[in-house]
Order: sequence, then structure tokens, then C-alpha cells
Amino acid sequence: MRVLVLGGTTEARELAAVLDDAGVRVVSSLAGRVSRPALPRGEVRVGGFGGPGALARWLVSEGIGAVVDATHPFAERISASAGEACTAAGVPLVRLERLGWSEEAGDRWHWVDDLTAAAERVPDIGERAFLTTGRQGLAAFAGIDVAWFLIRCVDPPEPPLPARHELLLDRGPYTVDGELELIDRHQIDVVVTKDSGGAHTAAKLTAARERGLPVVVVRRPPRPTGVSVPDAAGAYDWVVSVTGAV
Ligand code: NAP
Repeated sequence: MRVLVLGGTTEARELAAVLDDAGVRVVSSLAGRVSRPALPRGEVRVGGFGGPGALARWLVSEGIGAVVDATHPFAERISASAGEACTAAGVPLVRLERLGWSEEAGDRWHWVDDLTAAAERVPDIGERAFLTTGRQGLAAFAGIDVAWFLIRCVDPPEPPLPARHELLLDRGPYTVDGELELIDRHQIDVVVTKDSGGAHTAAKLTAARERGLPVVVVRRPPRPTGVSVPDAAGAYDWVVSVTGAV
């Protein structure tokens, strides 16, 4: 019996490590989006499955006894696919999703529903935006020429991109001092982010607070209902409870 961890997140790597330490046979799955991914411990497979039907067949043929969907809060399609496939294959599924960020005193956050709404909001509140929403979906900002964008992502994004921008390729983790230096050097007056949660990319929020900058925050998409845990420890306990492993 093996456990599938759908990954691409820090928590997925943490979980793979604790399962591997405990002697559980874990296979981590990555989408293959980034060129040099941080690899989890244990077995790793890379690339899409080919939709829910193919994933269901893969679960059965590979002898998967439990699935942990530890993908990013904004990776909607793979989560929907995992839900459908696990139901079809009769394999238990848990969602591992870190908590979202919450505002603190001094924050000036503007919550929006998606990247299109974020792009519409930017020109109302700033002229020099620090765009940290990742490589995908940047076309939403392409039509804005009244603002300049510092676009930070891990790998180069596909066009179309905003007419006035600078690209910064970096994968973090980021420090508050580093984020303050970027904000000051580029005279940033608005930060744009997804509500990714976690510590890895949270320094920009502290830096924005320190400089009194507005932050456009994209809300998480709705999730399918089901069992959910907020961290790797909770997912580990769930795996043990449903598989009897360890
Ligand atoms: P998505 O839109 O939900 O997925 C698109 C397709 O990519 C899925 O239908 C699936 O292909 C394949 N896929 C996605 N995650 C996979 C995985 N872990 N293993 C195997 N196949 C996977 O996902 P996305 O937003 O493009 O994100 C891709 C990956 O990057 C995710 O694993 C996620 O954890 C990570 N990530 C995403 C974000 C973000 O902001 N979206 C940020 C950081 C990391 P098939 O239908 O062919 O199976």
C-alpha cells in the first residue's frame, strides 16, 4: 500500500519527509511547472495524470491506499480532479491546506475575488505595483499601461504581460529586509498577492505594513467539501488513521 501526496508546496514536502521517516511508502506528484523544483523525499513522479478518469485508473494500478491533496490553495483543477478520481476509485482523500493570511493592525488590504478584479483595482490605488501572484494569470494585468509592475516569479512567465514592467526571477524564501529593499528601490506603492498563506512568502506583508502600503489580496477559490487539515502533522495523523500504517 502506498500513499499519494499531490504536491508542489512546502507542506507536501514536509509530509513526504515525515511519512518516509515513519516507513510509509509515499509517492509525491508534481505538476512539472517549474524548471528546478524542490524535490520531496521518497518516490517522485512528475506531470499531469490526464484528468480525473486517468488519475482514478492510476490510483488503482499503482496500489494507492490513500491520497493527500497538498497542492497550493489556488491550484483548483487538480483538487477537483483528485476529488472525482478518489470517489471513483474508492480511495480516501484528505485536503492539506495551510491557513490563509489575516490582517493585522496597520494593514491596508483590499480583498478581491480573482486576478481580473485585482488588475482592475491596481490603477485606483497605485502607480508602481509589486506583483507577486506567480507566473500564471498575468495576462489579466496586460491591458494596464497606467501602472508599472515589478513582476516576481520563479520561472519566466508567458506573454502577454503589462507593457511597463520589470521581471524579477526568484524563488524565496524572502526576508522582511529584502522586501523592504525592493519596495524602496523600485518606489513601490502597492503590493498584489494571492492569499497563499504560510511563512515562506509572508515577508512582503510585513514590509508593506512597515511602509504603510496598500495590498491587493486575491481571495482563495472555493474548495470542494471534504476532510481538511491545516498542516503536515494533521495529514500524517489522518494517513495513520485511515491506513493503519506505522
Ligand atoms: P491546476 O490548475 O490545479 O492544475 C492543472 C493541471 O496540472 C491539472 O489538471 C493536472 O493535470 C496537473 N497538475 C497540477 N498539480 C499536479 C500535481 N501535483 N501532480 C500532477 N499533476 C498536477 O494547478 P496549477 O495552479 O497550474 O498548479 C500546478 C502546481 O503548482 C500544483 O501542484 C500546485 O501545488 C503548484 N503551485 C501552484 C500555485 C498557484 O498559485 N496556482 C502556487 C505554487 C505552487 P491532469 O489533469 O493532466 O492530471
